[in-house]
Amino acid sequence: MKHFKNFKTCVYCTAQTLASLDETTLARDYAYLEKYVGIDKVYLETYRDGTWVAIDHMKMIQNFFKKHGVEIAGGITTVTPPLEKDDVKRQRLFQTFCYSNEAMRTYLKKIVTYTAELFDEIILDDFFFTSCTCDDCLRERSNLSWAEFRSKKMIDVAENLILKPAKLANPSVKVTIKYPNWRESYHETGYVPKIQPSMFDKIYTGTETRNTAHTDQHLPRYLSYSIMRYMEHVAPGRNGGGWFDTYSCWPIDCYLEQGYLTALSRPQEITLFQWGDLFENRLVTPLGMQLSKLDRILNQVGTPCGTPVYLPYASDGENHIEDHLGMHGIPFEPVPDFPTNAENVFLTQAALKDPDILQKLEAFLRNGGTAVVTTGFASHIQAAQWAQFSSVRFTGRKLTANRYHVTDDFAGFYENQQPVTFDELQFSNNASWSYVNAGSGDSHSSILLL
Ligand SMILES: [Zn+2]
Repeated sequence: MKHFKNFKTCVYCTAQTLASLDETTLARDYAYLEKYVGIDKVYLETYRDGTWVAIDHMKMIQNFFKKHGVEIAGGITTVTPPLEKDDVKRQRLFQTFCYSNEAMRTYLKKIVTYTAELFDEIILDDFFFTSCTCDDCLRERSNLSWAEFRSKKMIDVAENLILKPAKLANPSVKVTIKYPNWRESYHETGYVPKIQPSMFDKIYTGTETRNTAHTDQHLPRYLSYSIMRYMEHVAPGRNGGGWFDTYSCWPIDCYLEQGYLTALSRPQEITLFQWGDLFENRLVTPLGMQLSKLDRILNQVGTPCGTPVYLPYASDGENHIEDHLGMHGIPFEPVPDFPTNAENVFLTQAALKDPDILQKLEAFLRNGGTAVVTTGFASHIQAAQWAQFSSVRFTGRKLTANRYHVTDDFAGFYENQQPVTFDELQFSNNASWSYVNAGSGDSHSSILLL
């Protein structure tokens, strides 16, 4: 690490950008990025969306970075224009591959072989998924759900179209699978973090949350931190780093906060996407200075910690509620396995993906643990089973509040707030006790209770 003590700084370079760079432009861009950020490593993409970087051109770029003491690795993005006339019928968001189509499978092996011959390390950008609904995929899916079919399919693709051809071309090559920022949707598109990390040498994590009011993906800002922590538990010590970009990042702090939260999650690397977007981009100009400050803070702190949030593999429901709370100052540590030995656990509707969740919860409570559960979790359990845990009942009615009453240690009243609508809960006095009441006019009801 040349520039910072706690992490490497890296830039990803797309095939389209690399194909357009001559040595003079490369030197100009490098001087800019070195001045404002400091570059330890670059990921050089060989292929994306039909664009290949020619071998001589790639060697010129590799030599440039080697000469400047910058580490190099390869990159692949698994998107392609139609290869055959019939491919236009395949329903593919962002032109991701149809992995039921033999021509596309062969084409991907060719890309992987080409890249592995050029690099000892390769990362797959996070288009390594499928949303294809073509006739071939429908036929192969048969009676499986899309999640089951795509998960099975992408494990086969990882083994036979990525890892085998890569190791055949270059036995010492290390391959990294990068996971996108949308954890709640992995299973619907064939990302399988329960199995794939043991197949690949490393994983990597997308941390771009952009301006949450403008972005397309409904991902709260705290996710730039929490998804890194989750993936660290998925593959301890093998989460290679966090990666964010410049898109929908206005004002400038939206860009920088992605960097702060990524850095605070204690990444091995921080990767900026992508080279061609960064030259003379004012978003980048304060980044090196801010990372220097964070680097000094990280010298003084240990491993991140927080209340465990149990998010089983392939789960969704009340998506990212913990991230909204996290940005309000409650530290969370999302984990893929039930945190049996923790003192506390936070459970949302996503935890119900685990068929044994109620037995685990009961054992946790009997051992003296404290569980905080959301209405989404509790109201989706059978009423008779839930009654074993609490006197709270779900009425189906809604409560719109503009006034809050906090009881106990932080007692106080908060009047004339913006109206917010909650589920109205019914509970038995002194079997339960309210910590926070919400209401309007002459009445209120509990929104947080023991
Ligand atoms: Zn298909």
